[in-house]
Amino acid sequence: MMLEVDNIHTYYGESHALQGLSLKLEAGEIVCLLGRNGAGKSTTLRSIIGLSSPSKGRVIFQGRDITGQPAYRIARQGIGLVPEDRRIFPGLSVRENLEVAQYRRRGSSGQWTIERIFDEYPMLGDLADQDGKTLSGGEQQMLAVARSLMSEPLLLLLDEPNEGLAPVIVQQIGALIDELSKTTTILFTDQSVHFALKYAGRAYILEKGMVVHEAKSQDLINDLDTQHRYLSVA
Ligand code: ATP
Repeated sequence: MMLEVDNIHTYYGESHALQGLSLKLEAGEIVCLLGRNGAGKSTTLRSIIGLSSPSKGRVIFQGRDITGQPAYRIARQGIGLVPEDRRIFPGLSVRENLEVAQYRRRGSSGQWTIERIFDEYPMLGDLADQDGKTLSGGEQQMLAVARSLMSEPLLLLLDEPNEGLAPVIVQQIGALIDELSKTTTILFTDQSVHFALKYAGRAYILEKGMVVHEAKSQDLINDLDTQHRYLSVA
């Protein structure tokens, strides 16, 4: 088991954002968290990596209880996060954005170098000397994901990787997720089903800080009742 989230409760002040949420990921899986605005998707990712510590429940990563540890320590153990706003450095070039992320997790093989990233994602290579602030939304997202690879996470958390991106870019992000999944377990969030179910094997649907439905992608694709009940669908 790569990750086990067991009955967590997470608060922002008085606001009870996660109310007994549980989920599990086996190594090598791609899993999606679905749900409407405010359902608790981002908070789940933040709770896993320690940016918002759960006040109850446990987060078990590779058999170790990491609940309540600070985010930097959790990251070092092999969990990467690409936040919704991507957080690339606007004043640094693409190459520099990758350089600052280049620290080695203990036990990592060092297989992801900047050169390899530029080889595999020539689009980023072509932009190597451009400042982050000049990149399009899609280019920023590619960079944010590539940057998270520099630390070779065992588990990669992606918060709404497609938000605000054009369909052609969304396809590229999908291809990237597919490629990454050969070496990394992935948990990502999305508001609608189409992309999610194409790339994820399973999905959890969240509402009001709880998991209200869990299904294999192929079952959820045909389950329009559930989609209408819990998701924003056209
Ligand atoms: P979105 O698609 O809008 O990101 P989400 O499913 O990721 O939605 P969360 O952002 O996790 O949902 O929000 C879960 C709940 O926690 C919501 O009710 C939200 O209003 C609340 N919340 C989120 N961040 C904060 C904050 N910084 N302070 C107070 N409440 C917050």
